[in-house]
Amino acid sequence: MTATVNLNLITDLQKFGAAEVNACVSCGNCTAICPLADNDAMFPRKLIRLAQVGLTDELVSSKELWTCYGCGMCTARCPQEADPAEFMGSARRYAISHYDKSRIARTLYTRPAIGTAIAIGAGAFFALFFAALRGEQSHTSLALFDFIPYHVIHNVGIALMVVVALFSLLGVGLLARDLARRDGVTWSSLLGGRAALARTGKALWYALGIEALGQKRYRDDCADDDPIEPLYRRRWLIHSLTLWGFLGLFAATIIDYGMDVFGFKATGTMVPIWYPVRLLGTVSGLALMYGVSWFIVLRWRKLGQTWQHSKLSDWLFLVLLWVTGLTGFIIEAALYIEPAQPWGYWVFLVHVAIAMELVLFLPFTKFAHAMYRPVALFFYGLAKQPA
Ligand code: SF4
Ligand code: SF4
Repeated sequence: MTATVNLNLITDLQKFGAAEVNACVSCGNCTAICPLADNDAMFPRKLIRLAQVGLTDELVSSKELWTCYGCGMCTARCPQEADPAEFMGSARRYAISHYDKSRIARTLYTRPAIGTAIAIGAGAFFALFFAALRGEQSHTSLALFDFIPYHVIHNVGIALMVVVALFSLLGVGLLARDLARRDGVTWSSLLGGRAALARTGKALWYALGIEALGQKRYRDDCADDDPIEPLYRRRWLIHSLTLWGFLGLFAATIIDYGMDVFGFKATGTMVPIWYPVRLLGTVSGLALMYGVSWFIVLRWRKLGQTWQHSKLSDWLFLVLLWVTGLTGFIIEAALYIEPAQPWGYWVFLVHVAIAMELVLFLPFTKFAHAMYRPVALFFYGLAKQPA
């Protein structure tokens, strides 16, 4: 098999943030210090070398790219100030853009002015769309689904999810294809017989259970946090709260929708604050807001090696999540105020518009790592087991 050399790879990666990577002399200090680099996964040095010699396909289809949690220990020990941690982050952004065939991710990462215009335009479009279709405002209680009809929100949401699912499946499918080719993984090696199935099951458990949900290596091995870093803002903690908060809100939405569909309650019915689904939503929302708020503060104040470089895409994802969470809580408070306040309706409109924008941008922003990383970790988990 012949490898294609991309002479512009380093220049291109620099647009994604890896400004200093040319300074690397391949000394290996970063690999020695990295708590996650196994003997057979010599990153970040080996990946930097791939970039320096222009091997795009080898770089973007490297599962090791996704095992790095960006702690910054390698950057702190690099004698050349080549910032290997930022290289790893930039290479992940580059990989997401490589697999996103719409080029939206690339624009958000490398053209901040155009990306900002797209983000503002999308938010304004959704807000004007829902404002144009708005209905009556009751003044006795907050009848949100009379103001923006439920079926409009439902249909727009479904249409967006279909679009997002197509882009996501395409990108993640292409990464999986490349990883499988590289490691010689076939359908029969995954599913052909009991031993293969057991191996596949273990790799799935490793990727989804131990790493994605349990954050094991992030928590135990990636000792990025200075020992004096207070627990309440350690990266693994705020990352876990954000992830679990997001999943909890997603579950609450699905359960609520299911209860409407199966007739347990009428759509938009007011429920008490202790109602289990509402309680799940409230607790999950608080966890999400806590995690996202800390991410914003740490990035804004650049508190630590990890937070030195932020791209529009990073901010877009965090800000959309934060505004969606905040407006959700304001609506929850407004629901208990009588008589209904006109501002409650407009906060609801902003909430719906921003939530739609958040969904629309999922495959193109920082959120995309939540889809790509588990796939790479699955192949990493497979490679760790005897064939
Ligand atoms: S990034 Fe720095 S520490 Fe790592 S191999 Fe290059 S020069 Fe050495
Ligand atoms: S940022 Fe941390 S996990 Fe990533 S390569 Fe550097 S030392 Fe390893």
